[in-house]
Amino acid sequence: MSTELIRIPLPSRFAYDKVNVYLALGDTPTLIDCGEYFPKSIETLQAALADYGLKIQDLAQIILTHAHVDHMGAAGWLASQSGAVVRMSEGVWPWVADFEACLSQRITVLQEAYRQAGMPETMQQMFVEGLKAFRSVWSQIPPEQVALFDLAGGQTLQFAQSTWEVLYTPGHSVVQNSFYDAQGQRLISADAVLPQTPVAVVEQRLDKPTLRSYSLPQMLDTFEQLARLPVKQILPGHGTIDTPLAELLKQQGMRIEHRTEETLAWVRRGHHRVFDIAQQLYAKAALPHFFLGFTMTLGYLDLLEVRGLVVCEQDAQGWRYVSKS
Ligand SMILES: [Zn+2]
Repeated sequence: MSTELIRIPLPSRFAYDKVNVYLALGDTPTLIDCGEYFPKSIETLQAALADYGLKIQDLAQIILTHAHVDHMGAAGWLASQSGAVVRMSEGVWPWVADFEACLSQRITVLQEAYRQAGMPETMQQMFVEGLKAFRSVWSQIPPEQVALFDLAGGQTLQFAQSTWEVLYTPGHSVVQNSFYDAQGQRLISADAVLPQTPVAVVEQRLDKPTLRSYSLPQMLDTFEQLARLPVKQILPGHGTIDTPLAELLKQQGMRIEHRTEETLAWVRRGHHRVFDIAQQLYAKAALPHFFLGFTMTLGYLDLLEVRGLVVCEQDAQGWRYVSKS
């Protein structure tokens, strides 16, 4: 029986690239992540399964890497068609238990962050509308088919004739897991490692859901953790990666450091608001790319704050970042 993982890139309405799901054959046909729930995505998946003589009904196990719609929107429909067990961390579970509550909490936290960051009202509204549209590619997972693993990692999963250790790899998402096959030296990184530096998505904190996460500092810790692993093959959530893991993480880490230095220079030149600094750093970027830049700018400022190089003051207009030296 094959230990191979078959990459199936699915179309996405929300990601900037296709989203990868991975198919493991054998006695327990398994999907790692499952894409969004809309006709073109489902049809693409069906056609790919058919190449291996499989139908959706044959799926026995679905494993989720994190709670973003491009990775799990179709899980509910696939699970109800197949009866497959859906494995996810207890960090992803709240999105299954009450999707609307999690989404509205996310919107509240983000709207507050956008406001504090000095983003114009019309742009805030646009992004909030984008978040609400997540509903259009979501399907409800039958709770009785769910099996949980620890978000913090340590447990193992079985698929592709291999044993995979669950790793906690936050940064892109506070509920991001990766899966590591020590024997085959394979890493399903999902969005913890991507061909291009992952976006440090702003989310609600796990311990204090009314506050936002400091995602970029978490991502750099994850990079450090992953760079130590012996890995021959990386299986990312989008695209493909041929560069050795340690080298890729070093390159992306250096770029983050470089951007963080530039951010500090803009603060020292008298730019104190996140949105204003993002406009300096990403002057040439149009929407939607500017939005990614804006998110990263907040991350660079978080890094500077964590390192004690800037302080974040609060005034009537929102957050005001000031250099400490
Ligand atoms: Zn993704």
